[in-house]
Amino acid sequence: MNNYHNTLSRRDFMKGLGLTTAGLGSLTVASPVFHDLDELSAFKSFETEKRPWWVKERDYLDMTTEVDWDMKKRWPDANYDNFMAHLGPQEALKRIADMTTQRQQNILSDKAGHGLRDYVLGRTGWSTMLALMPLYWSSRELETFDLSPSIPELPVNGTLFLLNNENLNVPKWEGTLEENANMVRSIVRWAGGSTVGFGQIDEKTIKLIFENEASMTPGAPPQQIVFEDVEHPYQTDTKKVIPTKCKYVITTTIREDVDLVRYAPSEINGGTISKAYSQNSSTAVRVNTFLRGIGYNSVASGPAFMVPNVAWAVVTGLGELNRMKSSFTPENGPAIRNTLVFLTDLPLPVTNPIDAGMNRFCYDCGKCAEACPASAINSEREPSWDIVSASDQRGNPVHLNPSLFNNPGHKSWFTNHFACSNYWVESCSMGCGICVSRCVFSKLTPSSIHEVVKGAVATTPVFNSFFVKMDNLFGYNKFSAEDQTDFWDNPDKWQPLSNWKTNY
Ligand code: SF4
Ligand code: SF4
Repeated sequence: MNNYHNTLSRRDFMKGLGLTTAGLGSLTVASPVFHDLDELSAFKSFETEKRPWWVKERDYLDMTTEVDWDMKKRWPDANYDNFMAHLGPQEALKRIADMTTQRQQNILSDKAGHGLRDYVLGRTGWSTMLALMPLYWSSRELETFDLSPSIPELPVNGTLFLLNNENLNVPKWEGTLEENANMVRSIVRWAGGSTVGFGQIDEKTIKLIFENEASMTPGAPPQQIVFEDVEHPYQTDTKKVIPTKCKYVITTTIREDVDLVRYAPSEINGGTISKAYSQNSSTAVRVNTFLRGIGYNSVASGPAFMVPNVAWAVVTGLGELNRMKSSFTPENGPAIRNTLVFLTDLPLPVTNPIDAGMNRFCYDCGKCAEACPASAINSEREPSWDIVSASDQRGNPVHLNPSLFNNPGHKSWFTNHFACSNYWVESCSMGCGICVSRCVFSKLTPSSIHEVVKGAVATTPVFNSFFVKMDNLFGYNKFSAEDQTDFWDNPDKWQPLSNWKTNY
């Protein structure tokens, strides 16, 4: 069955053709936008995931979070700072030294969730991500690996060479948009992603690509992120280059364990978080490698680069924006680590934003803001266009500069990222995650009562306050004393075997 239906408005059509005001001129020169009717005909909404009845599809770029695209600017991510810049080096290093002392005491006293095994677990979660650092952006670096002169398709001496269609002397894969979309959903899930969405780079969404990134080499200048008319992605010391033809966007949610999230704040929850970032990197390398192998380019955001990943989750309908400034999905609430984003030249359709009543629920809830020990989450009922004030004293900064962590241009509950990360340091709880663990949507879809509640939430906001009270009353997110201490003694409870389901 063909799931496409066209949602292109006349305004978007005109903009797609470049028939827009002069202000757009300079941007479209460097941006991949639609050029002809053939390309426009490919621009259709695709219902990718089977959503429950209460998840409503909206029009292209009509998110439940209002965006002022004139105000929105590409984010200079190299400037992002949620700690050091707001304290100065002396005070920042003092707070970090205090945290180090506290950590040692926690380990020596085997504090629940902060003992030696717990701390090492938290770091173990990062291991794969760090190992894959040089590869996750484009994976073309794999081409530098050895090639056996005799049996080229086999790994040699423990290294890897991946064939692609050119090495095999065959044409690249070509399918319809629907075939491509289903193929991508298959490979992304195989590679460790979850729900999948699709988007496109146009004169608005280009603003959701970072302007630059900090270099991995300490002290080196930032790398600018630019589009060029080149065949393949490449990078130099000063720039990361994305081929202009890579205007198709793939998004996928990277989940974290919804049970272990309840260990927040502790190193066990920290390990859940860091393992998910490693999952992100593995998925990035696998999908990039697959797409390259069948004849296309692909660059990935990896764990935290290239794009504001939350924005892309919302734009492509994986979820909605929440009060915590992350995305939450109908399937997993906020128990996702982040959204992995790819830019590719494999033609794909788009998926539209959704409305499951979740963003609207945040107006009447505020549970995460109440639970946050640093008061870092905005507790006002209504979202606002205003970023955090420079006079904000949460976390006791020396000189707060919110423009280093808030990017304006959308109506939201802006978070004080400094107060958040300062709590991580002062409480020695890297990753914290109390807010995620307390969210009323941090429960899985198959739990039937929550399905009923979610259906009501999507239909009317009238019962929202009541549902928050019920959530508190039942204590869904509370943890027993036994739960706090038996992670290492009860593998069947916390690490149940999975993937044993078969279709045969
Ligand atoms: S991670 Fe912790 S400190 Fe940061 S916003 Fe959430 S609850 Fe607050
Ligand atoms: S806890 Fe409530 S206010 Fe916070 S993100 Fe979840 S639903 Fe929204």
